[in-house]
Amino acid sequence: MDRRKFLKAVAAGTAVCLAGCLEEKAVVQNGGKMPNVIVFYVDDLGYADVGYHGCKDIPTPNIDSIAENGAQFSAAYVTAPICGPSRAGLLTGRYQQRFGFETNPSPWAYLRTADTRAGIPLEEKTIGERMREIGYKTAFIGKVHSGQQPEHNPYNRGFDLFFGFDNGASEYFFHEYKQRTAERLKRNLETARQEDQYYTDAFGREALSFIDVNKSRSFFIYLPFNAPHGPMQAPDELMEKFSYIKDEGRRVLAAMMYAVDNNIGKVLKRLREYDLEENTLIIFTSDNGGASHKSNFSLNHPCRDLKGTMYDGGVRVPFCMQWKSKIAAGKKYEFPISTLDIMPTAIASSGSKIKGDWQLDGINLLPYLSGGSNEPELRYLYWRLIHSWAIRDNEWKLVKARKGGKPELYHIQNDIGEKKNLISKYPNVAARLKKVWQKWSDSLMEPQWGPKEICGDKYKMKINVE
Ligand code: CA
Repeated sequence: MDRRKFLKAVAAGTAVCLAGCLEEKAVVQNGGKMPNVIVFYVDDLGYADVGYHGCKDIPTPNIDSIAENGAQFSAAYVTAPICGPSRAGLLTGRYQQRFGFETNPSPWAYLRTADTRAGIPLEEKTIGERMREIGYKTAFIGKVHSGQQPEHNPYNRGFDLFFGFDNGASEYFFHEYKQRTAERLKRNLETARQEDQYYTDAFGREALSFIDVNKSRSFFIYLPFNAPHGPMQAPDELMEKFSYIKDEGRRVLAAMMYAVDNNIGKVLKRLREYDLEENTLIIFTSDNGGASHKSNFSLNHPCRDLKGTMYDGGVRVPFCMQWKSKIAAGKKYEFPISTLDIMPTAIASSGSKIKGDWQLDGINLLPYLSGGSNEPELRYLYWRLIHSWAIRDNEWKLVKARKGGKPELYHIQNDIGEKKNLISKYPNVAARLKKVWQKWSDSLMEPQWGPKEICGDKYKMKINVE
């Protein structure tokens, strides 16, 4: 080897070493390997439809194991009773109305201006970006529904892997000609030419493969299954398995949820095989309440009403969290929490600091799960979706459920079913909550897209999306 070639080889070796050292530093910062973080997120699953909430006809043993091995949150809320805005809240850790993402970015929406780009704006950082900055390898596997433009693709927003689709719903089996482009699976920026598996199984497969590749470093997987959102489709063998369920709609739901639970089980098993389970923070939740017999046959009892409404059946969801080396099994937390808390909790689990100028709306939940008093300071959760709104604190909920309707007041802590409207009896409580909600609402951006009575009909959203 001549001197020039030798020096070149040394330089290349040095570069490799530097990259390796940086990678190593990311893995071991904060005094040990940062925990892996996995968020399992299902679509339109009702409060009643997990085994650990008492569901009898749909077995969810793997989801139940997360609840039993960790903490269960009985008053967990999403930030909207529909898919898109709920996801935007979770992904940014901020109320989505702060950036005009009030309702679904769907084909039937109207844009406020000709330049509006319906989706999470570039000024907002996603949980993928935040986790990658800390040193995580990041994956987004499943349904997006927070923008269909190229800049909304998760691969462009902090995720090292994106495998999934942009649309609010999709067929569960690949059809080359039947599916619109936004329903077609993408791998990173490229549309997949073929998918042989049932989508729920394909998402599980991709998660396993991501763990295989990244098992020696810290990884973050966000896994938003589109099940059990419609269209209601499941493989024949699973339909056969649930033939004992007479209601045909409910039978498909059972088959779809069985597939979800089974894939969650495969991920848990793979973590155990690599001895990673103890140091992995795992969260399971849903993006909004069950869509009931109008759509996916999910159930929300004892909560009132369903997806799309501001009653708890629309916004209260199953939520459990396992981290075996840190959270004691069997913890039950009854105070209100939010999917906004997922980002701060994930970041805090790594030992990293949450900065004030990020203006996150959630809190780190971990301190409330370790012994002692776990009652949080007074905390308000807020909702606003075009014509309806709500606010709750630890005890009370004030809700205006529909256009033209009047606010109703419930002692939600004791009246989970929102049965007894107490607004005449406690006008001062209602006035206090209305004032707090109004202040929050006034701080938000106008919806940047939505129905024409809000945004006008000058700019109808185009279904873009090549
Ligand atoms: Ca949904």
